[in-house]
Amino acid sequence: MKYFEPTSIDEAVAILAREDDARCVSGGATLVAMMNADLLSPSTLVGLRRVSGIEGITKNQQGLRIGAMTTHATIAKSGLFVAGMNVINRAANQIAHPPIRNMGTIGGSISHADPAADFPTALIAANASIEVSGMDGQRLIPADEFFLGYYETAVAENEFVTAILVPKGPENAVGEHVKVTRVDGDFATVSVSLVLAFNENQCSYARIAVGAVAATPLHLDEADAVLTDSALTDEDIDNAAALLVKASDPIDDVRGSANYRRALIPRLLKRAVSLLKTDA
Ligand SMILES: Cc1cc2nc3c(=O)[nH]c(=O)nc-3n(C[C@H](O)[C@H](O)[C@H](O)COP(=O)(O)OP(=O)(O)OC[C@H]3O[C@@H](n4cnc5c(N)ncnc54)[C@H](O)[C@@H]3O)c2cc1C
Repeated sequence: MKYFEPTSIDEAVAILAREDDARCVSGGATLVAMMNADLLSPSTLVGLRRVSGIEGITKNQQGLRIGAMTTHATIAKSGLFVAGMNVINRAANQIAHPPIRNMGTIGGSISHADPAADFPTALIAANASIEVSGMDGQRLIPADEFFLGYYETAVAENEFVTAILVPKGPENAVGEHVKVTRVDGDFATVSVSLVLAFNENQCSYARIAVGAVAATPLHLDEADAVLTDSALTDEDIDNAAALLVKASDPIDDVRGSANYRRALIPRLLKRAVSLLKTDA
């Protein structure tokens, strides 16, 4: 197996284009475990840890730029995730346990595209975009269009994820991520990421994403619309959740049955709304 450690985005892209069956390695938390289990045996690994400009969180006029190599722990500890962007920080805090949060990177997490992972829903609720780099330069993919199926993304073969761009969103927004797990630190049986803004007692903005109930994170404009301009009564939440349940396509697996997952959607949505009403 060949191993490269490029120092620039251009160099990394050139290696990905030149070498057959090349894969990026970021934190290695998932990739190395899969290689150890003989699930993957790439002929070339491209280590991203020395690539400049793809690590850390920077604030700009539009919001935040999170480099792909930023670890979950760095995101979890950062104070830059204000207003609705906080949904990302809340998700990072609930991923696995400290050793994994120190190893795993946001770029690696979303590239792996596990439907039970925490960042995919959080990035959709935050209305983020994913920056990918390839031979033709960079392009932005809305988080809503990034996840295509189980472990499948819109990143082309010779491209890799270099950053996540998070818009500020409404100034008075608040964000929350809630999940049900079998045991502490596990992947979600079901998760809900939610961003809300309030105008007095009315909800003026809502964006909901549900994880682990389909091959990709579930986001419906119609469900957001039910909560927007509502008083967020139990009935409003049940109506929004009913649309999400109808659109979901959960599986039975070790973490829970499809029926259990459907039943969790309204409960988690209510929990997230109630936490945000307290924060607002
Ligand atoms: C025990 C355990 C528990 C976990 N629990 C949770 C949990 O509760 N919630 C959760 O969300 N996650 C969980 N995870 C996943 C973990 O948090 C990381 O997100 C995951 O390991 C991937 O990040 P990484 O940086 O280690 O990626 P890697 O393992 O390095 O790579 C993962 C995949 O992405 C590709 N890749 C990596 N970086 C890029 C890039 N920049 N561009 C394109 N492709 C890239 C690799 O080729 C590989 O296919 C858990 C993992 C473990 C091992």
